[in-house]
Amino acid sequence: MKRRVRFRNGECRSGGRSILIVALFLTIWTAWGSVSPADEPAVFQAGAYAADITPTRFPISLNGQMHDRPGSSALDRLHARCLVLDDGKAPVAIVVVDSCLISRAIFDEAKRKIAEATPIRTERMLMSATHTHSAPTVVGVFQSEPDAEYTAFLIDRIVDGVGQAFKNREPAQVGWGVGEDRTQVFCRDWLMKPGTAATNPFGGTKDDRVQMHPGYQNPNAIAPTAPVDPDVSLLAVKAKKDGRPLAVLANFSMHYAGYGVPPDAASADYFGRFAERIKVLAWISHQGLNRAALRVIGGIATTTFDTEPRQPDGYRV
Ligand SMILES: [Zn+2]
Repeated sequence: MKRRVRFRNGECRSGGRSILIVALFLTIWTAWGSVSPADEPAVFQAGAYAADITPTRFPISLNGQMHDRPGSSALDRLHARCLVLDDGKAPVAIVVVDSCLISRAIFDEAKRKIAEATPIRTERMLMSATHTHSAPTVVGVFQSEPDAEYTAFLIDRIVDGVGQAFKNREPAQVGWGVGEDRTQVFCRDWLMKPGTAATNPFGGTKDDRVQMHPGYQNPNAIAPTAPVDPDVSLLAVKAKKDGRPLAVLANFSMHYAGYGVPPDAASADYFGRFAERIKVLAWISHQGLNRAALRVIGGIATTTFDTEPRQPDGYRV
């Protein structure tokens, strides 16, 4: 990644593209503040909490592949990572869940319960899934059926996580920026010569012109269907009192990795490893031992048009 986010004397310095995010952030911030009590002091606070959502009952349905598969254990811990940002007027919550797919109905139910337990309004909550391919099924996809008991557990844990993050609020500083890593992103959907695209195995279409993963140097592949997004967007929060790192929210347009995850094991995949590694690096940086260089190095087994078939070589952050 080329650029870094850093705080210095309470100021965030970052790469040139951060101006777009700053403008967007200020726009949102102004909107959030428009309905707040006028007499509260405007002290920015933030709180974070990682709610453990690792399944406790096995076997359990895992999805993310073309068929259902029973999970018998967990390779690592899965989390619903919760961040509350509060300008002293109208708090917001951001939640990122280690799951492949989560329906709006599930998140709406979690939001409704959070709004009952905290002052955070449902329209000020942003929730998403990481898209790990090794999490319990909460949405029926690819021959897997939702696990009702786990779905209820997941909703409760999201509600609890945001509640804990809200309680953990303390005066804070926030910084943001955008880096770039082109080494791990590629377009997997390619325009193919007429009549050469693989047949849709699920039916319903014919004469497809686009194929996923055409293969290394496939002579029938004409061009990728879209440009890649190499940006690594970051929002970092630290305690105002002593500079302790509180949270980092990051976004990178890469699919799951899957390396080293047995087919019958639940896992947060590289998203979870990124989160755990960033936690260590942020503390190292805070202690003044080193700079937290934010770099994701993937070892994805996928064969792309531009890369020869290869064995997974692990991934580290
Ligand atoms: Zn996927």
